[in-house]
Amino acid sequence: MGLLHRRRDVTVDDAVHRTAELDAARAEGARAGRALQRAQAALDSLPVGVVMVDARGHVVSRNASTHVAGAHGEVLVQEAIDRHVEAALAGRESQSAVELFGPPRRVLQVRGIPQPDGGALVVVDDVSERARLDTVRTDFVANISHELKTPVGALAVLAEALADEDDPEVMRRLAGKLVDEAHRAAAAIDDLLELSRIELGGRAGHELVQVVTVVREAAVRSLAGAEQRDIRVDVDEPSPDLCVRGDRRQLVSALANLIDNAVKYSEAGGDVFVSAPVRDGDVELTVRDRGIGIPTRDLDRIFERFYRVDRARSRETGGTGLGLAIVRHVATNHDGDVRVSSEEGEGSTFVLAIPAVVPASDPAGAHEDDEHDRPDEETFG
Ligand code: ADP
Repeated sequence: MGLLHRRRDVTVDDAVHRTAELDAARAEGARAGRALQRAQAALDSLPVGVVMVDARGHVVSRNASTHVAGAHGEVLVQEAIDRHVEAALAGRESQSAVELFGPPRRVLQVRGIPQPDGGALVVVDDVSERARLDTVRTDFVANISHELKTPVGALAVLAEALADEDDPEVMRRLAGKLVDEAHRAAAAIDDLLELSRIELGGRAGHELVQVVTVVREAAVRSLAGAEQRDIRVDVDEPSPDLCVRGDRRQLVSALANLIDNAVKYSEAGGDVFVSAPVRDGDVELTVRDRGIGIPTRDLDRIFERFYRVDRARSRETGGTGLGLAIVRHVATNHDGDVRVSSEEGEGSTFVLAIPAVVPASDPAGAHEDDEHDRPDEETFG
């Protein structure tokens, strides 16, 4: 009866009012749901993994970056998260690294941070790149020490021998060797400074550089070494109109390194060919030799710092193992690339390709050219 009585009390106005309240509550709920979805999407887009846990140990929120590919990796990361949640719930900050051997190899840093409300926050950070750079830096320092220790050690030994020597002929020989070793140490330091300058410089500037000047300057720089070994450097000069954008000093350094190598790894009396044809919109600074060539298995590695196919030969010819690393960096800084084709006993061809700058008046597609042809004056004029 009471119920009927109350029902009769509900007026039309009440009903309308309640329906409106219900609609508002539903809309509010939908808005909150959408806000939650947006927050989760934002959390998922973070490169850092985040797990939030309340004081009772229930996971309140967790984003996509806390998951890794592969069941084994997932288990390792989950174990680390559980450990750090437990520590954080007990009020302790903690941290550990999880190494996943991939591929790709990854290093994740997992941190647990206690929260003011008694809950826990766990952050999973991918520190793979930092770890890789640390290794590269450590290796680099070890390599530099080794590269400089050899000539500096030799200098000390030779100087001691010279001090104890009376025979003028032997003294002359020892002094000659001292000079050679001093040159070797100086060359290593020069190349290291050049490499770090080019690496630190990042992307090259936007100066318009005439390719013909680069070719001429690089050839002149390599002249002394070539003459010493009676090697002819045959230069096919490009048109003065052919240009690239970048840093002239870097480009000269890269091309001179390629010519120096062609000279160093050719038999005395040989020939080296330098040209700069244009192909597919790139100036291809090309250095070809008929020297000793490079075994196929080493081709992938010769652009690494300090990598040499034949350590003894490189040392004999005063190589520092940094020349091609410099060339590769110069290519990267100019949005270009460097390629090599080689056959043992037959010779090698290195191509440093840099985007060509063709004068605006040049008809489209006019920059196709044959590898051995001189770029046509009219094409680029
Ligand atoms: P290096 O100072 O030893 O010449 P580079 O970085 O310039 O160092 O070259 C790395 C290695 O690549 C050399 O030690 C050599 O074994 C090989 N190499 C480079 N250019 C040539 C070439 N034109 N012919 C044969 N081998 C070459």
